[in-house]
Amino acid sequence: MKILCIGRNYADHISELNNERPAEPVIFLKPDTAILKDNHPFYHPDFSNDIHHEVEIVLKINKVGKNIDEKFAHKYYDEIGIGIDFTARDIQSKLKEKGLPWEKAKAFNDSAPISGFLPKSHFDDLQHLNFHLEINGNIVQKGNTEMMLWNFDEIIAEISKYFTLKTGDLIFTGTPAGVGKVAIGDRLTAFIEGKEMISFEVK
Ligand code: ZN
Repeated sequence: MKILCIGRNYADHISELNNERPAEPVIFLKPDTAILKDNHPFYHPDFSNDIHHEVEIVLKINKVGKNIDEKFAHKYYDEIGIGIDFTARDIQSKLKEKGLPWEKAKAFNDSAPISGFLPKSHFDDLQHLNFHLEINGNIVQKGNTEMMLWNFDEIIAEISKYFTLKTGDLIFTGTPAGVGKVAIGDRLTAFIEGKEMISFEVK
């Protein structure tokens, strides 16, 4: 399986990093070795002094598809979860400066902790889904999917122009404002509509 991620999908996060508002979605990948599950602790790597949390709604793909039309995109995922797109911001800044690929900053081991998944039918309205991240009990990021520049179906249509989606693939759909550094000893807990989905420690 593979993990596809959308960058710069929330306007408030674009402005906090002084990034340009993209004309089309920014897409990048993480390998399956980035997955961290079952509330396992995240071991802080020593190659970075600035690992940032980015809380994101995650879609789980349920069948093979490519060149998916936006109006059929909803048929390609029926479960939703939440994850953290860990980013070595110090490394990413250097790579961005030189126009180099982001993999070392984005796709390293355990850089994609994910929750369990719930059926879409569990939620009233995917276009207005509240989610948030707490660190040590304090809310640090809060988002609503209505703030996305590209919604879930538009993301699937765009990604599938370039990458065939396969059963079990995951899509990280972008992060709202409030990204910041994590420290050893922190506990990260993420919620969808107030329901705790994932909770793990940074070690
Ligand atoms: Zn992200």
